[in-house]
Amino acid sequence: MTEKITMNNIVKRYDKEVTVLDDIDLTINEGEFFVMVGPSGSGKSTLLRMIAGLEDITDGVMKIDDNVINHLPPKKRNLSMVFQSYALYPHMTVRDNILFGLKARKVNKEEQQKRLHETTEMIGLSDYLDRKPRQLSGGQRQRVALARAIVSQAPICLMDEPLSNLDAKLRANMRIEIRRLQRQFGLTMVYVTHDQVEAMTMGDRIMVLDSGKIQQVGRPIDLYNEPANLFVASFIGSPK
Ligand code: ADP
Ligand code: MG
Repeated sequence: MTEKITMNNIVKRYDKEVTVLDDIDLTINEGEFFVMVGPSGSGKSTLLRMIAGLEDITDGVMKIDDNVINHLPPKKRNLSMVFQSYALYPHMTVRDNILFGLKARKVNKEEQQKRLHETTEMIGLSDYLDRKPRQLSGGQRQRVALARAIVSQAPICLMDEPLSNLDAKLRANMRIEIRRLQRQFGLTMVYVTHDQVEAMTMGDRIMVLDSGKIQQVGRPIDLYNEPANLFVASFIGSPK
C-alpha cells in the first residue's frame, strides 16, 4: 500500500487555551475510502480543512506523497473538496459551475468539453447543463458539486458531510454513487460525517474522533467487533 496523506503529532489550537485537535497520528493510503466520524464539535471539519490548507497547523507535520505540506498553499495541493452547503455559484449555469476550476487552471477547451461530457453522463447531469442552481433540486445541486470535484481529476477528494442536507432515500443512493465514482477514479477519499451508518457502509477504514482525540482507527468490522472503548462501542452501536 502506498501512503498518500500522513500526519504526525498534528495539533490545532485556536488560542493558547483551546486545543481542538490533540496529537493526531494518522496515515491514509492511496485509493482508500477513509471516513472520519465523530459527534458535532469533535474536530472533523477542522482536520479536513487542515488537509486542504484552509486552516493553519499549530504543531506537527502533515505530508502528501511524502512531501511536507504544512505551508503549501491550497491551490498547490492537487485536491478537490465537496461541502455540505454545495457552494455553487448562483449566477452561473451548471456547465460553468462544473468547468470553473478547469477554466481557472487554463485547461484547454477541447479537454474541458471532453471531461464535462464524460462526467455529466456518469453523474446524470447531461440534461441540466444550461440550468442555474436555483432551478435544481437539492440532490441535483449536490451532484453538480460532485461533478465539479470529479472533473478536476485531482487524486485526493475531501468531503465534509456532503449528504446531510438530503432526504434519506437520496442519501442512500448518493452513498452508492460516491463509492462508485471513488473506485472508478481510484481517488483517495477523506470523507467526514457524523452519521454512523454512512461511516460503516462507506468506509474502507474509519477514524472515530471525540473531543479532538482519535479514539480508534480501523475497518468497520473491527470497530464493530472490537471497539477500543465504550465511546466507540456506543457511537458505532456495537453490543459491547
Ligand atoms: P466538527 O466538524 O466535528 O463538528 P469542528 O472542526 O467544526 O467540529 O470544530 C471543532 C471545535 O473547534 C469546536 O469546539 C469548535 O467550536 C472549535 N472551532 C472551530 N472553528 C473555530 C474558530 N475559528 N475559532 C475557535 N474555535 C473554533
Ligand atoms: Mg463539521
